[in-house]
Amino acid sequence: MTKILTTQNAQITTAIVAVETLTISGKQVTQSVFRQLLEERLISSSGELRGTPWGIVNYCPDPSCKTSPREAAIYGPNPAHIHVVWQKDNELRRTTVWTKRPRATLDGWGSSRSGEVATPELMEQLEELPHLFIAV
Ligand SMILES: [Zn+2]
Repeated sequence: MTKILTTQNAQITTAIVAVETLTISGKQVTQSVFRQLLEERLISSSGELRGTPWGIVNYCPDPSCKTSPREAAIYGPNPAHIHVVWQKDNELRRTTVWTKRPRATLDGWGSSRSGEVATPELMEQLEELPHLFIAV
């Protein structure tokens, strides 16, 4: 029996998905508030987490995430990175975590680039954190 999609047999199923938003005092965090969170490294030099990661944010807060043409030639147009909101004691911090060094040079991050590098294993764990939505 051939299945033909008609208005008789087709239906729209409404899926209920959970959208987690980051709020402060009940108000949804906007991009500008997110940018005001202090940046601090989440991963210690020994590879331990220095606090509790809350989630990852699908929003690039500043131009330092952008790839230069030279980097794009080496790493491709979009080196994988995530923006993580994490809790240090009773304060929130943010950090940028890269899968590999986003610059070709070995002398650090460059003047405007911030962030840190996670091992593939840790990156996998971080990517499983809730995706937090930030308001415009
Ligand atoms: Zn980014």
